[in-house]
Amino acid sequence: RAKDLGKGQYHIFDPSMHHNVSEKLQIENDLRRAINNDEFLVYYQPIIHLTTGKIAGFEALVRWQHPQKQLIHPVLFIPIAEETGLINAIGNLVLEKACKQFRSWQKSKLINDSMFISVNVSARQFANMDLSQQIQQLLEVTQLDPHCLKLEITESAIMDNPKTAVAILEGFKKQNVRLSIDDFGTGYSSLSYLHNFQVDTLKIDKSFVQRMDNNGSSCGLVPVIVNIAKTMKMGVIAEGVETSEQLSLLRGLECEFAQGYLFSQPVPESLLMELIAADKIW
Ligand code: C2E
Ligand code: MG
Ligand code: MG
Ligand code: MG
Repeated sequence: RAKDLGKGQYHIFDPSMHHNVSEKLQIENDLRRAINNDEFLVYYQPIIHLTTGKIAGFEALVRWQHPQKQLIHPVLFIPIAEETGLINAIGNLVLEKACKQFRSWQKSKLINDSMFISVNVSARQFANMDLSQQIQQLLEVTQLDPHCLKLEITESAIMDNPKTAVAILEGFKKQNVRLSIDDFGTGYSSLSYLHNFQVDTLKIDKSFVQRMDNNGSSCGLVPVIVNIAKTMKMGVIAEGVETSEQLSLLRGLECEFAQGYLFSQPVPESLLMELIAADKIW
């Protein structure tokens, strides 16, 4: 329990805990130091193309290597970063690290040209009008083909302000950057908006994937979402695949891509390179 961690330890470890003003200030200061000290790491989780069984791309997932604590997972600090606005700085660091690393794998021919890198963008980052400009600069500096970059945005980030979202998403589209809707099905989004947005990929939230086996032969909402994606000519990724039963159900539904612990947990670059070198077919 965060409470038992002793003096000087704020309660960052329990996301359900209500932070008081001074605790929040402390976390905010700690995050600022982390930004300046470059304490954020990017882990990567492979995304598998289910027809070929091969790795098709990677999702970048941030971790905080706090000098006095164990590796801190994003659920424990992203919400505070979002609240304080520090998410813009952290998000930029992640984007930069992920694009640079991905580009260096391409250059050293460690990965295939058709592979993509997917980076999460939170609501506040998404609403920041500078994001598109920052991405453009990054693409120029790294010489990364924009088509290799996918931004993962949640339904709620879009639906909070759909009019602005249309303009922002059109900007990304013009840049040739691709877009995924993350955790699809957990928020609320209008299907007609989705259609207008020209989103490239829907990511089926893991809660639906994990409930699949309990639904007998119906697989719950997963087939519905797969069909929405197909009808709208979008790609579809099932998140949180943990069992071979889930994998074969997804193959039966002709779901295009899958991601989950069954294939690999998110791993640091060195382990990812081993995974790629193994060239496994699932
Ligand atoms: P997400 O974007 O939906 O990422 C998927 C989360 O599911 C990751 O958690 C991943 O480790 C986890 N996951 C993958 N496969 C499985 C599985 O088979 N079973 C289970 N139970 N979980 C699985 P993680 O890395 O802790 O990230 C949590 C969330 O934090 C992400 O959800 C995303 O919303 C946010 N996040 C992570 N990195 C960033 C970032 O760089 N920027 C922003 N804005 N948000 C981030
Ligand atoms: Mg994501
Ligand atoms: Mg997700
Ligand atoms: Mg999620």
